[in-house]
Amino acid sequence: MRVNFQEVKLFGDKTVKCCGGCGRRLKRTKKFCQTLNPFNKTTEGRIKEYDDIYPELKAELAEWKAQPERCSHCTSQSNKRKINE
Ligand SMILES: [Zn+2]
Repeated sequence: MRVNFQEVKLFGDKTVKCCGGCGRRLKRTKKFCQTLNPFNKTTEGRIKEYDDIYPELKAELAEWKAQPERCSHCTSQSNKRKINE
């Protein structure tokens, strides 16, 4: 473990169906991190500790997992539609 400016990291992955209607299964990975440093403070002005950051990252991860995903094919399809409309 490094001592200063340590990073609190959380890796998320999910496999979801494309929300564009093609039914493709999409695998997504994302890294959530925050650094423990004197400038990363809580709303009360206290320097964040690991125990402050970890639940925040978990909440971010949960939110990300709940978000629908669209494959690049459907994304370009919907962009084309927008241009034509
Ligand atoms: Zn799709």
